[in-house]
Formats: sequence, C-alpha cells, structure tokens
Amino acid sequence: MNAPFQSSEADMPGSARRDEKTIARALFRSMGVDGVVARTQDYETAVERLAALISRERDADAEVLRFPPVMSRKQLEKSGYLKSFPNLLGCVCALHGSEAEINGAVATFEKGGDWTASLTSADLVLSPAACYPVYPIAAERGLVPALGYVFDIAADVFRHEPSTDIDRFQSFRMREFVRIGTAEQVSAFREVWMTKAQEMARRLMLPFAVEQASDPFFGRVGQMMAVAQIQAALKFELLIPVRSAEMPTACMSFNYHKEHFGLAWDMRLASGEPAHSGCVAFGMDRLAVALFAVHGIDFRRWPGAVRQVLNM
Ligand code: ATP
Ligand code: ZN
Ligand code: MG
Repeated sequence: MNAPFQSSEADMPGSARRDEKTIARALFRSMGVDGVVARTQDYETAVERLAALISRERDADAEVLRFPPVMSRKQLEKSGYLKSFPNLLGCVCALHGSEAEINGAVATFEKGGDWTASLTSADLVLSPAACYPVYPIAAERGLVPALGYVFDIAADVFRHEPSTDIDRFQSFRMREFVRIGTAEQVSAFREVWMTKAQEMARRLMLPFAVEQASDPFFGRVGQMMAVAQIQAALKFELLIPVRSAEMPTACMSFNYHKEHFGLAWDMRLASGEPAHSGCVAFGMDRLAVALFAVHGIDFRRWPGAVRQVLNM
C-alpha cells in the first residue's frame, strides 16, 4: 500500500532511516532465536519514557492492571482465539508425570532423544495480546455500570511468528486501553484515541498514516473473516515507515470488538444487552524501534522537541 504519510520522508530528521542491521546491533543482543532479543539500556530508556508518556495521556478514571506473560488456557479458549489465530499461540507445557516418568524424560534427553514428547499442556498459555484477561475480570463484577469501564493494561505477549525483521518479535510488550460499555461509549472512545494517538505521533515527529486494517486471521476461512472485519471498519492501524515506506509497520491499533467479549463472558449492560468493547493497543517495542529508526540510534541526539515530549 502507498500510505500518504503525514510528514514526508524528506522531513525525517537526521537524513536517512538507519539500516536494520545498524539499529539491531545498537539496541539488541541476540538470544539465539529469531524475534527474541535482549534489550540494551538505551532501548529500555526509550520504552520506559514512552510508557510514561502514554500514562500521562490516559483517562483519569482508567483502572490500571498489569498482567504477567501467561494467562489461563481455558479463558483464552473461551474467548475464541483458536478460531482466529491458532497458528500464533504458544502454550505452556510441563512434565506432569510421576518421578519415574519425569526421570525417563530426562534420560531420553541425555541419550540425545526427544524429551519434549513427554510434555503435556499446563493450564496456561502465553498471552497473545494484553487484553484477553480483562474481560472475565470485568464480567465477574456483574452488570456493567452505566459509565462503563476503562482499563489501562499491559503485558509481555507472545506470538509464534519468528522473523528477522527488527519490528516483528515473538515476545514483545503491549500496552492497551480497553473500553467496555455501550456501542456508543466504545465508538466514542475509539474516535478520541485515534485522534490522540495521531497527536502523539506528531509530537514524537514520527511520520505516520492511519489506515483501515484487518487481523491476520488464520487460513481460508480467516480470509473471509478479514473481509468482514474491513467491511465493518472494526480495525484501524497507525502505520509508521520503520523498515520502508512501501511496507510501513503497524505500531498502534484501534479495535472495536462489538459484543464479541460481552457474549463470550455473558457480560451485560443494565438493559440486559451484551456489553460492547474496544481497545487501543500500543506496540511498545515497535514504537521504540520506530523512534530509533527515524531519529537515530543515539537518543541523546534526537530532536530537542522529541526528547522534551519524552522527558529525556
Ligand atoms: P501485524 O499486522 O503487523 O502482524 P497485528 O495486526 O497482528 O500486527 P495487533 O494484533 O493489532 O497487531 O496487535 C497490537 C499491536 O501490537 C500492533 O499494532 C503492533 O504495534 C504490536 N505488534 C503486533 N505484532 C507484533 C510483533 N510480532 N512484534 C512487535 N509488535 C507487534
Ligand atoms: Zn486488545
Ligand atoms: Mg500480527
């Protein structure tokens, strides 16, 4: 797609975008697996300052929850994840047997065999997005109050999509604002945040475009789901030319789930109707990589205005 970026590439400070290898060498250390990296202090500084900026922008009444990198397998199943993205899911497995069986698995490993054949699933999956655990928590509380809910959540998430691209990780950080309530409340929230997010990108001097998008649903049936999602305008993305202008990177997404989670969790409004929900997701690692790609690998030399916005 040829996205009309809001500030042209020619406007990019510090001449050109850095090449991927230079960025990766400066910010990350290899951990031996594609899409899984150790992060340097400078990189973490950028992620922390971005997180603080997002916190300053959040709704005053947002309820803050921080999730661990794992969640209940049953809850994710009930959310319908396997219908949409079974290919991306990572499941936690463990050696569940008796002492003899566990020793047997270790012995298999020591003989050079495949000990992982003895693993069976634990009740956990690696969270594939930050927001899945929040819906059962909200549903537990009974009828959704008239003002609805706003949550500020974050988690380290996992998606099985190994890649050598500097902006596609298997393990990455996702921050989200989640709105639960009536269709009107959720639509209004998404509108406000689509505007605020663009304002934020402008202040960070990041070239961007906002486009309608679809989720990468799995398989052939998935392609139909993606078409339906576009037709209903359920997803928008804020794209930044991180690796190239031709293939810009989704760094934030604005999602409207309609009553999907309301139905899955029997989460109802006072009217008895299922609650609607939506979320604004910030790909923290993608936003950080975008900053370094656009402004250079030394944040001490980023434009003063950008450092000021980030308090750095
Ligand atoms: P893409 O189309 O690039 O795969 P997505 O549609 O799967 O992205 P979402 O499901 O909307 O992304 O996830 C929310 C946000 O998380 C994205 O806007 C992006 O910033 C970030 N994100 C998604 N996948 C990755 C990844 N593999 N590595 C880093 N960040 C990611
Ligand atoms: Zn979400
Ligand atoms: Mg994806």
